[in-house]
Amino acid sequence: NGSITFKDVHFAYDANRPILKGLSFEVPAGKTVAVVGPSGAGKSTISRLLYRFYDVQQGEILIDGQNIRDVTQKSLRNAIGMVPQDTVLFNDTIAYNIRYGRLEATDRDVEAAAEIAQIGTFIRNLPDGFKTMVGERGLKLSGGEKQRVAIARTILKAPPILILDEATSALDTTTEREIQAALDVVSKNRTTLVIAHRLSTVINADEIIVVKDGTIAERGTHQALLDQN
Ligand code: ADP
Ligand code: ADP
Repeated sequence: NGSITFKDVHFAYDANRPILKGLSFEVPAGKTVAVVGPSGAGKSTISRLLYRFYDVQQGEILIDGQNIRDVTQKSLRNAIGMVPQDTVLFNDTIAYNIRYGRLEATDRDVEAAAEIAQIGTFIRNLPDGFKTMVGERGLKLSGGEKQRVAIARTILKAPPILILDEATSALDTTTEREIQAALDVVSKNRTTLVIAHRLSTVINADEIIVVKDGTIAERGTHQALLDQN
């Protein structure tokens, strides 16, 4: 379970400037759909609406056929794992950052999640800027590494739905490949919505939706979109 349905969704932050103008699509349970499009098209807005940071003005968003307005905030957040574009880390070890809020998780669970996200080697480290009595001794993490901390957090949480907002920052190819590998693992058998900034990172998506001017301009598999353009 965990299907996502957007039905004629309209949304504007400012009444006189609509961002989404009747967006309809579906992510069948267990499938992966990627949203691509120019910067400012409203891609991240889609993830914010799904998490109910904002409510739609017209149309509806359903999870397993139920309008998310009728779901409690708590159960909505339990159903969705969100890997935001910029992950803010707490001033504690990477392991603590992965476990965050999940008191029932064992050390082994945390280590296993870190391994899958490919950050297993530095979970005992502290993030950059962490201050202790003996001075500063943090580890500087790249944007991609921070995002993998968030991915590990999501692996531990194991929600039926995953939203991944790809980092916009220029990722080097190695980092991009590592994130891709971790994403392939976490998205398996889980409904996944990827907010993608590059077509090349979502080759394995079941469907790619191209959003332009508040509606869907094109849709299809990676290959089909390449063939069209
Ligand atoms: P994308 O992810 O496709 O780059 P966003 O969904 O982040 O686009 O933003 C879509 C548009 O909405 C942009 O023009 C952006 O400036 C605007 N926007 C985003 N967040 C807000 C906000 N909180 N208030 C007003 N406008 C916003
Ligand atoms: P959890 O998923 O661990 O139960 P939350 O529901 O509080 O925790 O948050 C889920 C994810 O969404 C976290 O990774 C957090 O960084 C991110 N998040 C929470 N609030 C916001 C927000 N206002 N804007 C962007 N991202 C947020």
